[in-house]
Amino acid sequence: MSRPTAYDLWIGGNWVPSQGAERLDVHNPVTGKTVYTTPNATAADVDAAAAAAAEAGQVWRHEHVLRSECLLSLARLIIENAEELAALDTSDSGRLPHQAVGQVRNIARWYRFFAGYTDKITGQTIPTESSTMFTYTLREPLGVIGAITAWNAPLLLAGLKLAPALAAGNTVVVKPSELSSASTLAFAKLCDDAGFPPGVVNVVTGDGPGTGAALVAHPGVAHVTFTGSVGGGRRVGALAAQHLKGVTLELGGKSPNIVFDDADLDAAIVGVLAGILTLTGQSCIGGSRVLVQRGVYDEVVERLRRRVDEMVVGSADEPEAEIGPVANAAQMERVEYLVGNAHKSDARLVSGGRRADREGLFFLPTIFADVDNDSELAREEVFGPVMAVIPFDDEEQALAIANDTAFGLASGVWTTDVSRAHRMAAGLQAGSVYVNNYRGLGPQVPFGGYKDSGVGRENGYDAVLEFTQVKAVWLETAPTHVDSLRR
Ligand code: NAD
Repeated sequence: MSRPTAYDLWIGGNWVPSQGAERLDVHNPVTGKTVYTTPNATAADVDAAAAAAAEAGQVWRHEHVLRSECLLSLARLIIENAEELAALDTSDSGRLPHQAVGQVRNIARWYRFFAGYTDKITGQTIPTESSTMFTYTLREPLGVIGAITAWNAPLLLAGLKLAPALAAGNTVVVKPSELSSASTLAFAKLCDDAGFPPGVVNVVTGDGPGTGAALVAHPGVAHVTFTGSVGGGRRVGALAAQHLKGVTLELGGKSPNIVFDDADLDAAIVGVLAGILTLTGQSCIGGSRVLVQRGVYDEVVERLRRRVDEMVVGSADEPEAEIGPVANAAQMERVEYLVGNAHKSDARLVSGGRRADREGLFFLPTIFADVDNDSELAREEVFGPVMAVIPFDDEEQALAIANDTAFGLASGVWTTDVSRAHRMAAGLQAGSVYVNNYRGLGPQVPFGGYKDSGVGRENGYDAVLEFTQVKAVWLETAPTHVDSLRR
C-alpha cells in the first residue's frame, strides 16, 4: 500500500486532482512534522464526486449479489491490509499500533455483517379495505449518501456508515476529517481492489465549512450521515434542513460510568479506566464522569490513582506505551483549557492534570475527584484522558446525576444486584447502557445518542432503515371502468 505525501481525491474509481489549488497540511502529533497534504476540495470537486456516485448507483441499487460479494471481498482485504491501514492512522493521529490495528481488523466485521443484508431488505404486503387491491411496499435505497467523519477513528466511523448504506444499494461520497484523511483514501482504493464498480465509493478531502458544507448542500446528495462534535452536528443539521434532506448525527458525550457499593471492584476499576482512557480519551463513548457510591468512594479513587500513576505515556514506537498522544494541536488546546479551568474549581486533583514532560502532544492521564456535576468539567466533553469522579449516596441520586447532562450517548453500571442493573438500564437516558462492562460496539447492535448526542441510529437493522425509504404500491387487480367522478 503506497504512502503518498500529497494525496489527490478518489472520484469515479480514479485518483483525481482537485479543481482548486488549496491544500491542507496534516501533522504528526509527536514530531509536529507535516506527514502529507490533501486537497481542500471545492464545490466543483464535490459535484464531480456526487455525479460519479449518482451514475454508479443506477446499476449498484439493483445488484444485490454483487453488493454482497464486494462487501465480503472488502472485509477480507481490510484484514489483509490492517497493519498498513492502521499505520496511516498512527502517522497522522499518533494512534498506538496495537489499538489501531485491533480497531481496523474489527471493522471488517461491519462489512461482513451487512453483506448478509443485501437480500434481506424487504417490503410488506398490506391488506386494505378492498379485496381486489394488492398493496405492498418496496424498501428502496435513498441514492447518494454524504458521509462526514471525525478524526478519532476514521475507518471505524466510515464503516458504521458505509457498510449498511452500500448494502442497501446506496452509493457514497465520504469526507473524512481534514486532520486524518489518509486511511480513508487508502480504504477507497481497497474498495476498488474488492471489485466495487467505479463511483460506488468516492472520497473528497477538505475542511468542514468548505468541502463538508458543499457535500451537505449538494442537490444530488439524498442523505447526510455525520459523526463529529455537537457544534458541527448542529450546523450540518441546519444546512440539511434547508435542503430538506435527512440526517443521521453521531455526536459527543459526557457519559456516566456508575460504580455501586456492591460492585465487583476489580472488574469495575479495569472497566472505568478502559472506559475513559482507551484512545487517550478521544472516544465518543468515553466514560468521562465516574460516579462512585460513597461506601467505596475513597477506595475506588485510591485504586484508580494507583493504576493511573503507573501508566506509561508514550508514542507508537515505544512498545510499553499505554496512553498515546493527543491527536492534534487543536484537541490539545481544548484539553489544556478545560483542565486549566478545573484546576481553578473546587475539584480535587488526584493524578495528572498537565502535559507530560516530553516533546509532542502528550497529556498525563488525569483524575479529578469530588467534582460538582454542575461544573464545567462535568458538563463539557473534554475528549481527552480526563475523568471527573463524582460521589453519590443511593440509586436514585446516581440516576439523577447521570441523567443531568445535555448528552446521552453511553452509560455504564457496575453492580452485582441484577434487579438494580435492570432498574438502572430502564432509567438511564442514553443510547447504550453497559452493565459490568464498557465500550461494547458491534454491527448487530443499534448505536446512537439520546438528547444532544445525536439523531438516528447506526448498526443493526436500524442502520438499514436509516439508509432506505419506503414506497407504497397500490395495484388494482380488478379494474372497473365506471367513471367515479360521475357517481
Ligand atoms: P468536528 O465536528 O469538528 O468535525 C467532524 C467532521 O465534520 C469533520 O470531517 C469536519 O471537517 C466536518 N465538519 C465540521 N464542520 C462542518 C460543517 N459546517 N459542515 C460540514 N462538515 C463539517 O468533530 P471532530 O473534532 O472531528 O470530532 C470529535 C467529536 O466527534 C467529538 O465530539 C466526539 O464525541 C464526536 N464523535 C462522536 C462519535 C459517535 O459515534 N457519536 C464517534 C466519534 C466521535
